[in-house]
Amino acid sequence: MCQAPIYLYSIATFCYLALTAWGVFDIRLSYFLKTQYFLKGRPKKTVVLTFDDGPTELTSQFLDLLQQYNAKAIFFCVGEQIEKYPELIQRMHNEGHRIGNHTFSHQPKNTFSSTNLQNEICRTDEVLKKLNIETTLFRPPYGVTNPPIARAIRAAQKETIGWDIRSLDTIIQNDDKLFRRIVRKLSNGNIILLHDKSTRTLRVLERLLQYLKENNFTITNNL
Ligand SMILES: [Zn+2]
Repeated sequence: MCQAPIYLYSIATFCYLALTAWGVFDIRLSYFLKTQYFLKGRPKKTVVLTFDDGPTELTSQFLDLLQQYNAKAIFFCVGEQIEKYPELIQRMHNEGHRIGNHTFSHQPKNTFSSTNLQNEICRTDEVLKKLNIETTLFRPPYGVTNPPIARAIRAAQKETIGWDIRSLDTIIQNDDKLFRRIVRKLSNGNIILLHDKSTRTLRVLERLLQYLKENNFTITNNL
């Protein structure tokens, strides 16, 4: 019987490991679970604005700005922050924004294992329930998925929402660079990842909203 040379096995193993590692960090691959990261079949240019890790002391300014442009967004909120700013969650809800679960603590040590993650999702659901809000939407911290994370999300019966434009607004320090990075990637159906926790993002959001308006984009939070 003819056997494949050992190097072929090595290449196959390497490819498998590389793909798995890529699948862990790139939510768009839907490698471990079904993830929505863009909008399908919209007749005109439509995008979704998403804000992670809040609410924070700056969120009300984000809400003011969104209101000014009549734009409805999705906020993926952290349970600990919801407990600090429940009135902002009420305001988001009243103003037509959608709220998603983004774990309770956002800590890697609590969100990278199945049982811990399930607890984190549950705790945040309970905090939201006290405010009469329920959500099926979930976004894993850092967009990281792996088999235990996928198991926990399935057990919690959540829809996983990713993004196809990662603004890197927590890393890029320059307003112009950040703005250009987002608009360069704009097409139809993008889900844009932002964070409602810095004045830089707030400034760039204003430019982005203006740009979207001038270029006839529709902003929706209907996935
Ligand atoms: Zn996050």
